[in-house]
Amino acid sequence: MELAARGHGVALVDAARVPGGRARSVDLQGHRLDNGQHILLGAYRETLHMMRLAGVNLEQAFLRLPLQMHYPALSDGMQFEAPRLPAPLHLVLALLKAKGLTRADRMALARFTTTARWMDWRMHADCTVADLLSRFDQTERVIRLMWRPLCIAALNTHPEAASAQVFLNVLRDSFGARRKASDMLIPRTDLSTSFPHAAAAFLTARGGATHFGQTVTHLERHERGWRLHTAGVDAGASSDSATLPAQTFHSVVLATQPMHAAALLSGHGAESTIAQIAQLGSEPITTCYLQYDRGLRLPRPFLALLDNEGTREWGQFVFDRGQLQDAHAGLMAVVVSASEAAMENGKEALAIDIAAQLAGAFGIASFRRPEWTRVITEKQATFRCTPGLDRPAVDIGVPGLALAGDYTASDYPSTLESAVRSGRAAARLLLANARRR
Ligand SMILES: Cc1cc2nc3c(=O)[nH]c(=O)nc-3n(C[C@H](O)[C@H](O)[C@H](O)COP(=O)(O)OP(=O)(O)OC[C@H]3O[C@@H](n4cnc5c(N)ncnc54)[C@H](O)[C@@H]3O)c2cc1C
Repeated sequence: MELAARGHGVALVDAARVPGGRARSVDLQGHRLDNGQHILLGAYRETLHMMRLAGVNLEQAFLRLPLQMHYPALSDGMQFEAPRLPAPLHLVLALLKAKGLTRADRMALARFTTTARWMDWRMHADCTVADLLSRFDQTERVIRLMWRPLCIAALNTHPEAASAQVFLNVLRDSFGARRKASDMLIPRTDLSTSFPHAAAAFLTARGGATHFGQTVTHLERHERGWRLHTAGVDAGASSDSATLPAQTFHSVVLATQPMHAAALLSGHGAESTIAQIAQLGSEPITTCYLQYDRGLRLPRPFLALLDNEGTREWGQFVFDRGQLQDAHAGLMAVVVSASEAAMENGKEALAIDIAAQLAGAFGIASFRRPEWTRVITEKQATFRCTPGLDRPAVDIGVPGLALAGDYTASDYPSTLESAVRSGRAAARLLLANARRR
């Protein structure tokens, strides 16, 4: 979009049949749903900017909620919500009004934010989130109810392994910034409709072309640029998708998942980038959809759940899709981040465990008997966000080639925002290189 907006001819080649990559929709039981429930933050400046540029009406596309962490009333959780007041008043009041926290818990939360601000949200040497929480003297309850779920949701990595610096970066831009930056945005429609389709239309309206269902098998260096070799034009590729013609491109943005980028970079003098990619681990995310009677409604559009591996309570957040879209009445989406252990006994067992967890948490026995369930696991949903990761740069030092993707060097973990930021940075790099030539 960044290049097309500046008048450059862009061809988008995607191995998948539908646009959106890891943030795409799937058809389930007559519903168009996401491969995983996503949340955006008000702090996702560049993502929201690009969405507006693509013509997305953000008010219609998202339910915007103030920063909150509400647990079901029956569980031993807490109720925390930032009122619509200017920062940092919104946090001060949220702390004062929070229910389910002791005085020591409140003091610990206040200490965390004050100390982090004083440190300017920066650490001399990165460590794990668990270490950070212990250095900041956080109570067991605050860790369990606030920091642990936030860390797993934002970094998709358990606090014992997650980068404290990246966690602080996310908190800086949400807790530490303007009130609106801390807002949570939940997609009302499916993700492919909300942005990727609009982005593809933006390209074609500016003379660009989209080629879905075509895998780039290798890149060939040419005198005046790059030639892309593709395979497997998929019979199911969307009808607006044309076969990529044999053509030399001036520049290429390699915006695939990291392991595919490494394969395509092989032989092009980017050994250090390939080595950086090789050290990235990955983490899965599982979303369990459960359909109940259309009249079943949660007290809020989304709530945190107390997870506990020992009692097979895997769900960390539950979304009542019916409060986002009428057509989804009675449909719950339960998210399990960093879900390796949850998946050990298979999808069927997990769906049964989650239905039982909902029944217990809300005290509603019928939650045990969903009409249908569907479990979707994205095995490599994100990279494992460990301390001091050396993430590859967008600029890999190969002329006419740039990397983009959520795994490239950034303040942020694997998120939509880091992906969008890297894409825009890649476009700016190629334009700057072209001007120098
Ligand atoms: C279940 C789940 C929940 C998530 N929740 C959140 C959330 O709440 N908030 C948030 O901000 N982020 C969330 N994320 C992360 C977010 O979706 C990703 O960070 C983001 O989509 C990554 O975008 P990307 O462009 O870097 O990569 P991708 O979206 O993976 O795009 C890579 C593209 O490259 C294509 N490709 C690969 N190889 C080739 C090839 N050889 N030729 C042609 N095309 C190729 C693929 O088909 C794909 O379309 C979640 C992810 C998952 C899976």
